[in-house]
Amino acid sequence: MIDLASDVKTRPTAAMREAMMVAEVGDEQAFEDPTVNALNERIAALLGKEAALFAPSGAMCNQIAIATWCRPGDEVICDAGAHIAWHESGGPAANAGVMINAINGHRGRFTAAQLTAAIKPAWRHCPEATLVSVEQTCNLGGGAVWAIDDLDAVAQAAQSRGLKTHMDGARLFNAAAATGIEVARHARHFDSVWVDFSKGLGAPVGACLAGSKAFIDRAWRIKQRLGGAMRQAGILAGAALYALDHHVERLVEDHAHARRLAEGLAALPGLQLDPLEVETNLVYFDVDAATAGMDAHEFCKRLLASGVRMTAFDARRVRAVTHLDVDGAGIELAIASAKKALGQANG
Ligand SMILES: *Cc1c(COP(=O)(O)O)cnc(C)c1O
Repeated sequence: MIDLASDVKTRPTAAMREAMMVAEVGDEQAFEDPTVNALNERIAALLGKEAALFAPSGAMCNQIAIATWCRPGDEVICDAGAHIAWHESGGPAANAGVMINAINGHRGRFTAAQLTAAIKPAWRHCPEATLVSVEQTCNLGGGAVWAIDDLDAVAQAAQSRGLKTHMDGARLFNAAAATGIEVARHARHFDSVWVDFSKGLGAPVGACLAGSKAFIDRAWRIKQRLGGAMRQAGILAGAALYALDHHVERLVEDHAHARRLAEGLAALPGLQLDPLEVETNLVYFDVDAATAGMDAHEFCKRLLASGVRMTAFDARRVRAVTHLDVDGAGIELAIASAKKALGQANG
């Protein structure tokens, strides 16, 4: 099976499992787990922040950050396609009592002017915007990377209006790999930022949220409240540390694979995408039913029958994601399978 459904589909390698097995452990929530402590220190340093905490998931990092920065009734401003708006089960409303104020950005990114325009008047009839959240890279934006200048401008506009700034860095390491700019620079003007270990880094579980010491102290109360305080979590942190040592520099390979996949798919009649828009490891494309003779669901069903998995988001949109469990040969096979799937329909 060539599983391009998501970069969460990776399995821990034998060497990663070994690192997990030998990790020193203790009670995480009492700060007695030396491996978790080491991971937090390393991530804080990498991201240029004072402190970090380890959480079971990236979604929990978002939820913790929103509940730490905001009060019920506040607004969080983000792109309309943001993970916090689409894929966290209404968590911002349920866990923090906040409203989402969504901006229609371009491939997940918005401008400082759009942000400023989205902030409602400081009038007691209006909700108060207290947080702006950006995704680096933008998932539903096709893996697009924010330019540093645009991140800085949005952060500056937010801070000048008294908003806190949050970065969802589920794929921040991909952004760094694509640009050659270290993760700390992307996150420089963001008050909170997190990175995921269970996406392209290939660990089974976990994410780290970073910020000032004061922020992380307050964030811990929410982590506890959400049930995210753990015990011998060093087994998981061991996988994350291993991933940082061995799976970061190779992300450029995933990007090359994504670009090759995009070029191969773009050459097939019935599939619509611009390979130049593929900057990182996410490949989104459309199945044009009129030309392809099938919709996206049928296309993915046929692919699956030949051992290739992609995700149909709706009748048109498909997503394929490259990661460390798919090599160059797998990409060629995926392209050949796509060709076959489309050929079958045309007789
Ligand atoms: C996957 C993802 C998350 C959630 O991370 P999990 O570790 O799966 O909970 C949040 N934001 C973005 C942009 C993501 O792609």
